[in-house]
Amino acid sequence: MALIVQKYGGTSLANVEKIRHVAEHVIRTKQRGNDVLVVASAMAGETDRLIKLARSIMDPPDERELDVVTSSGEQVSSGLLAMMIKSLGHDAISFQGHQIRILTSNNYSKARIVKIDDEKIKKALSEGKIVVVAGFQGVDEEGNVTTLGRGGSDLTAVALTAVLKADVCELYKDDVDGVYTTDPSICSNARKLKKISYDEMLEMASLGSKVLQARAVGFAKKFRVPIHVRPTSRPEEEGTWIVEEDETMTEMEDVLISGVTYDKNQAKITVIHVPDRPGIAAKIFTPLGEEGIVVDMIVQNVSTEGYTDMTFTVPRSDFKKALRITEDIAKELGAKGVTFDDRIAMVSLVGVGMKTHAGVASKMFSTLAREGINIMMISTSEIRVSCVIDEKYTELAVRAIHDAFNLGEEK
Ligand code: ASP
Ligand code: MG
Repeated sequence: MALIVQKYGGTSLANVEKIRHVAEHVIRTKQRGNDVLVVASAMAGETDRLIKLARSIMDPPDERELDVVTSSGEQVSSGLLAMMIKSLGHDAISFQGHQIRILTSNNYSKARIVKIDDEKIKKALSEGKIVVVAGFQGVDEEGNVTTLGRGGSDLTAVALTAVLKADVCELYKDDVDGVYTTDPSICSNARKLKKISYDEMLEMASLGSKVLQARAVGFAKKFRVPIHVRPTSRPEEEGTWIVEEDETMTEMEDVLISGVTYDKNQAKITVIHVPDRPGIAAKIFTPLGEEGIVVDMIVQNVSTEGYTDMTFTVPRSDFKKALRITEDIAKELGAKGVTFDDRIAMVSLVGVGMKTHAGVASKMFSTLAREGINIMMISTSEIRVSCVIDEKYTELAVRAIHDAFNLGEEK
C-alpha cells in the first residue's frame, strides 16, 4: 500500500463542482488501496482578494495580521474538501497548519518550515481517514499564524511528503497539465516535458516559470521527494515528473535544453561611482538582505581610479523598498548616485545538457541580436544562461530562443 500526497491548486478548487471532481479522484485513489493525504490551496483568486481587502484598510498591511487573514483561504477550502469527501461517503478529516503543528520561523508571509509533527496525521490515516491539510499555513513557536509565501501550498505538500516518507507528491494543476519547454500562452508549440531534474526545475521555478513554487522544489531536491505535476481535469493522465538527474537527461543531443523561462517581476538598480574597496559590496547588500529582499543578478564593473559601478536586480515587488535602502547606503558610501529601471525582464535558457555542450550561450546571444534585442545584463550558472532585456521584448525573445533551440519539436 502506498501513501500518496496530492495537492490541488486554487483553480482546481474554484467552486463546489470542482471540489466534487477533486474529491472523487481522491476517493478513487484511496479505493485503489492507497493512503491519501490531500493538501488544499485557497479557492481561485481568494488569496489575492484577501490581500486586497487587507490593503484597503492598511497599506502595507500589518504583517502578523495579514497572515491571519490570508491563511483563512486554505482553512475554507480544506474544510469544504473534507466535507465533500464525507458527503460522498468516505471518512475524512481536515487539519490546519497549527493543528498538526507545522512549526515555522516567524517571518510572516515567507515563513520557513522548521519541523512538522506527524502523529495526528498518522493516526488519522491509520484509522482509514483521508487527511486534508490546509496548505500555505504554519505556526511559529509563540503560536502566531504564519504563511509560507505565495504558492506555498506546494511547499506544504512537498514537506509533508518528506516527513511522512510518502511515495509520491502529486501536484494537480488546472491551468497547466505539466511542465512545458516554455509558457504555452507565448509559444503555441511549447512541448510538455516527461521529466525534468530538480536543478532544472529549480532554475525554471525561480526564474519565473509559474508552475511550481521555487522553495518547494528546493525542498524536494534536498529530501529527494519525487514530484508528479498532473492535470486536475484529466487526473489519470501522465504529467511531468520532477526527479533526480539521470544520464538520459545529459547524454542525448536533443535533450540539451529543457526550457526557456522569463520573469517580468524584475527591476534593476545601479549604484554609480562607488569607492572600490573591501567591504563595499557587503555594505550595499547586507541591509537589503536584512530587509528580506532577495537580490538576484549582481554585476560589478571593472573599477577605474578606485571607483566602480554596481548593478543588481531585485523582485519588482520589493523595488521601492530596495531603492530607498540603496539610496541611503549610496549616500553613506559617497557614491555619485543611484539609477534604476523597473521595466526590465529576465529571459533564461535552462538545461542540464549545458554542462557537457559548448556554444549554448553564444547561440542565445546571437538569437537575441538577430531580433535586435539589446542585452543589459548576463548571468550564468552551470545549467542556465540569463539575459536581462527591455520588458517589452519579452515575448519576442522567448519565441526566438525557443525556436532557435528547436524546443517545440516532438522528440
Ligand atoms: N493560496 C496561496 C497563494 O495563492 C498559496 C497557494 O495557493 O499555494 O499564494
Ligand atoms: Mg496558488
